[in-house]
Amino acid sequence: MHADTERGHVDERTARKVAEEARETEWRLPSFGKQLFLGDFRLDLVHPHPRPSDEARRKGEEFLARLTEFCASKIDPAEIERESRIPDEVIIGLRDLGALGMKVPERHGGLGLGQLYYGRALMVVGSVSPALAALLSAHQSIGVPQPVKLFGTPEQQDEWLPRCAREVSAFLLTEPDVGSDPARLRATAVPDGDDYVLNGVKLWTTNGVVADLVVVMARVPESDGRRGGISAFVVDMATPGITVENRNAFMGLRGIENGVTRFHDVRVPKANLIGREGAGLKIALTTLNTGRLSLPAGCAAAGKWATMIAREWSRERVQWGRPVGEHEAVSRKIAFIAATTYAMEAMHDLSAQLADAGRGDIRIEAALAKLWSSEMAYRVADELVQIRGGRGYETAESLAARGERGVPVEQFVRDLRINRIFEGSTEIMHLLIAREAVDAHLAAAGGVIDPDASAGQKARAAAKAGGFYARWLPTLVTGAGQRPSSYAEFGPLARHLRYVERASRKLARSIFYAAGRWQGRLEYKQGFLGRMVDIGAELFAMSAVCVRAHADARADARADSGADSGAEGLGMDGAAPGASAVKLADVFCRQARVRVEELFEGLWRNTDALDVKVAKAVLAGEFTWVEQGVLDPSIPGPWIAPSEPGPSERDNVHRVIG
Ligand SMILES: Cc1cc2nc3c(=O)[nH]c(=O)nc-3n(C[C@H](O)[C@H](O)[C@H](O)COP(=O)(O)OP(=O)(O)OC[C@H]3O[C@@H](n4cnc5c(N)ncnc54)[C@H](O)[C@@H]3O)c2cc1C
Repeated sequence: MHADTERGHVDERTARKVAEEARETEWRLPSFGKQLFLGDFRLDLVHPHPRPSDEARRKGEEFLARLTEFCASKIDPAEIERESRIPDEVIIGLRDLGALGMKVPERHGGLGLGQLYYGRALMVVGSVSPALAALLSAHQSIGVPQPVKLFGTPEQQDEWLPRCAREVSAFLLTEPDVGSDPARLRATAVPDGDDYVLNGVKLWTTNGVVADLVVVMARVPESDGRRGGISAFVVDMATPGITVENRNAFMGLRGIENGVTRFHDVRVPKANLIGREGAGLKIALTTLNTGRLSLPAGCAAAGKWATMIAREWSRERVQWGRPVGEHEAVSRKIAFIAATTYAMEAMHDLSAQLADAGRGDIRIEAALAKLWSSEMAYRVADELVQIRGGRGYETAESLAARGERGVPVEQFVRDLRINRIFEGSTEIMHLLIAREAVDAHLAAAGGVIDPDASAGQKARAAAKAGGFYARWLPTLVTGAGQRPSSYAEFGPLARHLRYVERASRKLARSIFYAAGRWQGRLEYKQGFLGRMVDIGAELFAMSAVCVRAHADARADARADSGADSGAEGLGMDGAAPGASAVKLADVFCRQARVRVEELFEGLWRNTDALDVKVAKAVLAGEFTWVEQGVLDPSIPGPWIAPSEPGPSERDNVHRVIG
């Protein structure tokens, strides 16, 4: 192990190297998202919209019906919020339904659902209790079953998967000093005979307090003949030496069983290593490729509920002589909520069905869906608070106590906030997607913009890159988006697809200019990279919405003509009526285009460089005068002043004002 790493000090270069080594570098299947960033709008990769097989649909719908019945009759969302706890009988009931093994293959005792119906199930559960959806998702999207299914040996699968269908698991990566940057990981797994000996502390372990099995990331030390590195282990929580030291409490998701888990000389059999030593991060990231789709599912569910509450309240509440929904300022919010919800669902369903069909590499689409949906759902929640006015800020319990319907909008905002932080924060998602998106540029021009390359290497790389760009740049000049007849089968939505095609080429040209302008420094231009990724996300959302509305409209037309809509539809009950779907898709695309134009403008006109300078000055203490005149509530009281000020109160005054 590198000495610095051992002490927990890791420089930026090492951090990047570790992240880079964990990347999946191969692209075996085509990727719609990747091509989008290269100016190559491959509509054929997502259209016609993939559909579940008849068997998958039958199995999925049958399970959803049972799950919906259970959630509606056996779960009291207010009780979970009030007690900050999910009752045992709820987890037992879900287990008996098979909800702990949704994605576990049937031969191992699970339900064997695909990604689409797994996501649909999370939507149902999440609409009742986001904390419960977090439990199911932490267990199945990132917990033990998925990495074992993807990377486990047949023996490991036989041993662990049947347990995963009945027991709760957790995923333990984060440590007090290790958040977004896994290079600093401190937990160790030292080989000793037939075992590894685990030591370390894991923080914010969702399900960690109640889990029977966990997957732990720990570092195997390098030694003679041993590569070592961050590795993934399945650990039975009954093993001696494991203690759960705290049950953490949060702003939202109050029912989750999230803990601090300490490993002290815990002996884990070598047979519990998943994959090979050093492959732990790659396993975690690959698991997340589709695992990330559970968050967009939750966001789509949130949007659906928000649309309903916005509709009901905006009609019912009359102010200034009209229902509030008829005042333009509120109308705009309602249209935003409804259109964004349709897009969140379209993005999730498209990505999930592409994954199920095995038709493409969806790692960029899933990442874009996670990034975009978590940001947009939070905006949706904020607008819903505004529409509900004071009632949006009041707790459901308080509303009910004074005789009104207990609509938990305030809880809704708190529960949604975490989506922008976990499973890859927005900032990290920007970097991760940007890295994948510019992969082709780097493959061609990597040596030119690599700060470590020698002059000779740069010259050779420049010659190679020149050939690539000579072929590629002309393809960015014109395309289908400039021909008025393109995408005609999409009717009124065709113009939006033409826009996506044009914008995709403009985006690729912008990346090319930026690479030329900043070269090796491009990777530090996080403002540029973030906007570039956000443009890609909006373009993906527009594409998903158009393809979805087209499929919904066709299913509707076939139903009208008496044909079996089931065979044509997307396999979801309550598919949108055709004309209405096209109308909402059109509104969504118009809203998205406004955002895209602003983002393009911001690529070159912004205050990024100035902000960086100011932030440096803030960090250096130049503006501490701005902070004066307030107290710091994070410093212990006493807050009710005794006649003589106590020492801590004096400290507080001194610290803040002095
Ligand atoms: C409720 C909850 C549940 C969780 N569940 C789990 C779990 O089950 N298992 C698990 O292992 N972890 C879990 N986590 C941890 C979660 O994944 C981390 O909080 C997340 O990875 C961010 O790490 P951090 O909080 O340490 O933030 P930091 O990494 O300290 O980041 C702080 C801020 O800096 C930004 N930042 C960091 N690096 C960069 C960069 N290079 N460029 C730009 N911006 C950057 C971040 O985006 C963030 O805004 C959970 C956390 C919470 C709160």
